[in-house]
Order: sequence, then C-alpha cells, then structure tokens
Amino acid sequence: MIKTINLQKIFKTEEVETWALNNVSIEVKQGEFVAIMGPSGCGKSTLLNILGLLDNPTGGEYYLNGTEVSRYTESQRTSLRKGVIGFVFQSFNLIDELNVYENIELPLLYMGISASERKKRVEAAMERMAISHRSKHFPQQLSGGQQQRVAIARAVVANPKLILADEPTGNLDSKNGKEVMGLLSELNNEGTTIVMVTHSQHDAGYADRIINLFDGQVVTEVSM
Ligand code: ADP
Ligand code: MG
Repeated sequence: MIKTINLQKIFKTEEVETWALNNVSIEVKQGEFVAIMGPSGCGKSTLLNILGLLDNPTGGEYYLNGTEVSRYTESQRTSLRKGVIGFVFQSFNLIDELNVYENIELPLLYMGISASERKKRVEAAMERMAISHRSKHFPQQLSGGQQQRVAIARAVVANPKLILADEPTGNLDSKNGKEVMGLLSELNNEGTTIVMVTHSQHDAGYADRIINLFDGQVVTEVSM
C-alpha cells in the first residue's frame, strides 16, 4: 500500500536548512499496523504528513497503491486523499464552531455525498465511537477522550483504507488512551491499515511492526 524510496525532506528558511528526513525507505502492506517511534524532532510528523499527502518530499519517491505521488500538486493530493486516508492527531484538530455531528460530517461534505447518505454514515460512526449522546455538543464541551472519539469518528466516516495517527493518545489519560488504542486496534482487525506515531511503548505494543527513526533516518525495524 505504501512504499517510499530514499524519501528526503529539507526545510529551508533564510538561514537554516533542516534535514527532517534523510533517505527514508519504508514499506507498509495493506492491513498492517505500523508504529513509528523516535525522539522529539526526529521527523515522525514530517514522515506522516508526507505519507498522508499533506506535504511533498523534497527528494525520493513515494508509491501509494502503486502510483508515484511524490510530485503531485496540492489539488491532486487533496483529491487522492478523499475517502482513502483518515487522520487522527494528538490535538484532536476538531473545528470549534461545529458540533460533534457537523465535525464528523465534514469529510462526507467534501466528497459530495448526498444528505441522506451522510446522515446514515455519521450516525453509524457516532454509534460506533459511543458519542451519539453528544451529537449536538461542541468540542469545548467534551472531555479529551470524547474529543478524540469524535476525531476518530471523523477519520473513519468515509471508510478510508488507511488511517494515519500522530500521537493519538498524547493528550489523553491512560484510561482514555487505552480506549482509543482499542478502537484503532478494532479498525485494524477489520482490515484498515494503520500507521501511528507514538512515544508510548505501551501503544506501540498494539502494532505489528515498529519503525524507529533517529535524526531523519530509519535506524531499526522490529516485528512483533
Ligand atoms: P517529530 O514529529 O519527530 O517530533 P517533526 O517531523 O515535527 O519531528 O520535525 C522534524 C524536524 O523538522 C525538526 O527539526 C523540526 O524543527 C523541523 N520542521 C518540521 N516542520 C518544519 C517546518 N514546517 N519548517 C521548518 N522546519 C520544520
Ligand atoms: Mg511530531
């Protein structure tokens, strides 16, 4: 599903050049659950953003389902992403002005899905994430655990084949963290491919494989 060859990302400002990724070659097979670990600043989020088509690399190749996408324009990336990739972030990234229902509905609106179909799918996703009773609430009125469940509902509402999660339990206590990991694990058992950045050994225990990054390079890969 994912294959990168010598992926490179250099961030340039006036003075400094940061090599965020340096010759990263990885593969993720359909149905796998892969954890990416490594110290702060080693390039984990940069890698995830490129895998998720939120950003382009400055060098190397990226094959997503066999198609080389590393030179795609922003609009090409956006249209390829729709319905294929779901994102979960540490800071939830919900829209404060929209209620739970509306936040979850967003990806379906972007995809141009009909109102009746949207309603059906949003309700199913809310049910699944046990958040239906909060459908009219706004993000600020929810606990962290509830916000992350809304974020996961939004990530899965379009039935993506791939979920990318950047420290999904980073802002949660251990009880809510376990719940979120349980939900991701369940989605993986149903066939969704998951690539997750984490600092937590415990969370990494849910993965089939751990890719360890250091200074923008893959240092080790461990299968579980
Ligand atoms: P991690 O997620 O592992 O903590 P990041 O991928 O966020 O690391 O960052 C990797 C390196 O790239 C860091 O040195 C960071 O400062 C730098 N970096 C990340 N994003 C940008 C950006 N938009 N502009 C400049 N430098 C960046
Ligand atoms: Mg990060």
